[in-house]
Amino acid sequence: MDLLRLPSPVHELISPSFFSHDDEVWIKRDDLIHPLVSGNKSRKLRFLLDDARGKGKTHLVSFGGAFSNHLLALAAAAAEQGFRATGFVRGDAVDNEMLFLCRMMGMELIFIRREEYRDKRAVFTRYFSTDDAAYFIDEGGAGTLGARGCEAIIEETEAFFTHIFCACGTGTTAAGMINAAAKRSPDTRVHVVPVLRHAAMETGIRRMLHADLPFELHCGYEHGGYARSSPELLAFIQTFSAETGILIDPVYTGKLLFAVHDLLRSKRLSPGKILVVHTGGMFGLLGMRDRFPPPGSK
Ligand SMILES: *Cc1c(COP(=O)(O)O)cnc(C)c1O
Repeated sequence: MDLLRLPSPVHELISPSFFSHDDEVWIKRDDLIHPLVSGNKSRKLRFLLDDARGKGKTHLVSFGGAFSNHLLALAAAAAEQGFRATGFVRGDAVDNEMLFLCRMMGMELIFIRREEYRDKRAVFTRYFSTDDAAYFIDEGGAGTLGARGCEAIIEETEAFFTHIFCACGTGTTAAGMINAAAKRSPDTRVHVVPVLRHAAMETGIRRMLHADLPFELHCGYEHGGYARSSPELLAFIQTFSAETGILIDPVYTGKLLFAVHDLLRSKRLSPGKILVVHTGGMFGLLGMRDRFPPPGSK
């Protein structure tokens, strides 16, 4: 049984400080499709889990950092659908809110050193070469099967949008959206906002595209790099959430909405309707509360 609430809702985004009616900004709430398996991580898992099932695999093995949205999504999806799950976690053994939730969902956690973590296939082979039920899933659900699952973000969106924006880590979500937009809505521009600095980002996305398709990459909104933030970004996130009731986080969706606001403010987008995809991942915010100013410090 599929427990995801799809299609995810789309509504206009009004935040008096950043987005008005005149901006014509809408938001697609993939953060609401499941309480734990939120956003693009569940989209990416769809065909990966089908593939695993089709091959008779019952044990899902994947990888992530200590605050990985992907590991939590995988733990919950595996528990719901009757798979066993193992998560390799990068770095020294720690405990935190995310890993606690993974454990609650029955995921087995194995901590591995950073050097070892680089070659994930080798780690998988070393631990599970004799386990015929084990199925390798790359970090973040990255790859073409993951991208295929993200095509639905575009396919299920009925209204026409001139511009559609998403945040980008591995580029898997972006690739799926670009592929689907080319098929279904070729006049829509897909805009991609990287959350980390990676010289090969564009090549990485292109590798997952069905053809040489157009998209726009907006670099410069990394705020120092992956999982880094700036006081400006944190202030933006806090005001935005307080004005809209929509939580966004400093790793992905905060950088995305900051970029959309900045591009609008500096008039770098052609006029038209804008859709921003909220890719979910709210639990990561819990590990970042110390970054925000304490209550009463305004
Ligand atoms: C993982 C993640 C992304 C990045 O997705 P990619 O497909 O790796 O580019 C974006 N937003 C959220 C909330 C995520 O958890």
